Amino acid sequence: MDNGHIEVYTGYRVQHNFARGPAKGGIRYAPDVTLDEVRALAAWMTWKCAVVNIPFGGAKGGIICDPAQMSKGELEKLTRRYTAELIDFIGPERDVPAPDMNTNEQTMAWIMDTYSMHARHTVTAVVTGKPVDLSGSKGRIEATGRGLLIVVEEAVKKLGLKPSNTRVVVQGSGNVGGVAAKLMHQTGYKVIALSDIYGGIHNPNGLDIPDVMAYLEKHRTLEKYPNAEAVSNMDLLELDCEVLLPAATENQITSQNANKIKCRILAEGANGPTTAAADDILERKGVFVIPDILANAGGVTCSYFEWVQDRMGYFWKEDVVNERLKDIMVESFNDVVKYAETHGVNNRIAAYMLAIDRVAYVTRLRGIYA
Ligand code: NAD
Repeated sequence: MDNGHIEVYTGYRVQHNFARGPAKGGIRYAPDVTLDEVRALAAWMTWKCAVVNIPFGGAKGGIICDPAQMSKGELEKLTRRYTAELIDFIGPERDVPAPDMNTNEQTMAWIMDTYSMHARHTVTAVVTGKPVDLSGSKGRIEATGRGLLIVVEEAVKKLGLKPSNTRVVVQGSGNVGGVAAKLMHQTGYKVIALSDIYGGIHNPNGLDIPDVMAYLEKHRTLEKYPNAEAVSNMDLLELDCEVLLPAATENQITSQNANKIKCRILAEGANGPTTAAADDILERKGVFVIPDILANAGGVTCSYFEWVQDRMGYFWKEDVVNERLKDIMVESFNDVVKYAETHGVNNRIAAYMLAIDRVAYVTRLRGIYA
């Protein structure tokens, strides 16, 4: 540590499945990381990559630490040692980490550099989510929010709604919620509510999202934003709207509030915002759910593009990235909806059926090497 004493940290990397290609998944730094959590998140990545049909398996990593209490230098040492310990397990053909909670472009740059130092040459494709100047992909930062917009657009068309009359409520204004709100506003949707961890704001006539985001950047909170009423994060979920985007954190829609949710379309930007008990209630109410493993898969899809570009050594223009992202998201949305209709199940079950089917199919094709 900076003060000269030695601290020992525990970190994990779980690789859940390799049937369809190298494992893929983020690394989080948090005091409450557990092996069980990392294990569950790794499995989730397998299904997410399979739903969008990209050639990756699933993995996840984490270190038990409190990054808020650590200096940049301490975080760099932690990251480099973690990478060195994993050197035989990660790599462009084995397992490709990415950022997750409390890790970012800088963390990925350190991992790339450490891995490259051991390999004795630069290996950019070992991680994704790198800075654009260091072989990252254009469009990566916006990709999850853009993916959300794309699947919501498909659902809106399917239900016969019109963007200009479609009211959108967004919980969370970070990388996923903030970007989705901005893009939905640009596309002509009426974003009527937005929140951050401290609470939200609501204007039934629609919020001026660029102005709201500028306010948030300046004041670091949405509190006292003019031209809107304050609303709590829980009340926000129950607002009258056509599209609800929970894009903050898990377990927001539960058996306690599912009955009061009024949206027609629920697009899960966050991982696991809806509990299993709430899911049954939403199904009975006829809410069109776009499940997380489809709705927020734009990020990992663009990570796949980053890995492809790194291996080619040839980088695409942002509109090429966005166009290819759209192709994959629209196709995956249609695959899930078709599965739901063919098998008479809801979209979440359909997404899992599709994902498990794809993994099982290649497992059978490959056979067992005994
Ligand atoms: P972020 O840290 O950029 O933003 C999170 C937002 O949610 C912030 O506005 C924060 O104030 C708010 N928030 C945090 N805790 C909250 C709480 N308890 N109640 C209400 N609001 C709260 O994070 P992000 O990258 O936007 O990720 C949001 C969710 O999306 C997470 O579940 C994450 O796992 C998931 N996700 C992110 C990506 C990605 O590419 N960033 C990809 C797939 C899934």
